[in-house]
Amino acid sequence: MVERELFVFWQFNGDNQSFCNNTCPYCYGQDKHYRHLWNGRVDLWEQAFTRLNRDIYFVFSYGEAFGSKGFYDCVDLIGRHPNWRLCIVTNLSYDPERLILSRLGREKRVFISASWHPLGVKDRFVEWEKFKKHLLLLKAASIPVHVHYVWYKPQIQWWPQYFMWLDKNDFRASVRRVIKFSSGFKVPVVNKHVGSKFVLSDYTKVEKEYLLASTCPKVIEYGLKLSSPKGQFCSAGQDMILVKHDGDVGLCADKPDYKLGNIFDETFKLRDCLIRCPAVVCGGDYGMLHMIDRRFGDLPKQLWNDTFISQVEGIRQTSPVLYPDKPKMLRCLEAIKNQHK
Ligand code: SF4
Repeated sequence: MVERELFVFWQFNGDNQSFCNNTCPYCYGQDKHYRHLWNGRVDLWEQAFTRLNRDIYFVFSYGEAFGSKGFYDCVDLIGRHPNWRLCIVTNLSYDPERLILSRLGREKRVFISASWHPLGVKDRFVEWEKFKKHLLLLKAASIPVHVHYVWYKPQIQWWPQYFMWLDKNDFRASVRRVIKFSSGFKVPVVNKHVGSKFVLSDYTKVEKEYLLASTCPKVIEYGLKLSSPKGQFCSAGQDMILVKHDGDVGLCADKPDYKLGNIFDETFKLRDCLIRCPAVVCGGDYGMLHMIDRRFGDLPKQLWNDTFISQVEGIRQTSPVLYPDKPKMLRCLEAIKNQHK
């Protein structure tokens, strides 16, 4: 049997609290220390990942990767291995030119999940122009891009205008729910007993409908309704790991402290069988590529050449961009515009 690529969240420079140049009100890393924890040991990292003897799909998604220490060392390291690829979750405020010219960029083994955060930047008009410019640079270089926007009440009003530009330029764009606001932002994993009512209760009817119309059924179940994955079979630990800056290996982004070992340990091994999920909430995107729920079909046998979010949604890059229910999305956007007139 052909093995799937190993999905590796690599926190090469830190964790949720590490460096970022934005200051978003809903950030997961509320107690940011802004420290860079890159250890500079490219040789040791390369040996460690090579020892796993797998094709690898890396994901950088903690802090702002482009501004993190060691970023281009890691890009070059991954680029040296033809069977390794990279998906970067980024606010895209840094010029991606050097990435485009890197081996990963030239060989189309890099994908961008670009998040636009109008409330996290100093000047949302200036930064939106920069964001668009960087998107167009990536597009011209044929690098797959998927745009994200946090479905945060104070910024929902601007989404119709952003979406229209993105859609006109053939960028696939998703919105992501937030969980709750009470003296700050609480992430799903903190809210052990939340249910769908709780998650969606802050939204108006059309705002909820927009979320549902733009999202696939498995994400609705686990990312919006927050059904518990506990006890479900999952390939985390076998086909997916989270590797921390010190080499410690966690199960996945929702169980980072379920320690499987340390990647620098020459005896470290991936699990050789599925695990029963030990978590009460799964992130709602990456986990959907790994957690088994037959109601939503089989897991993909291979990851394809795209951002992982696009793969979860099962929608390939096309022109025009496809969505689960675009007519409904457009109707909701009109209603959202009117809501804020
Ligand atoms: S189902 Fe989700 S939370 Fe549970 S182990 Fe798998 S990836 Fe982690």
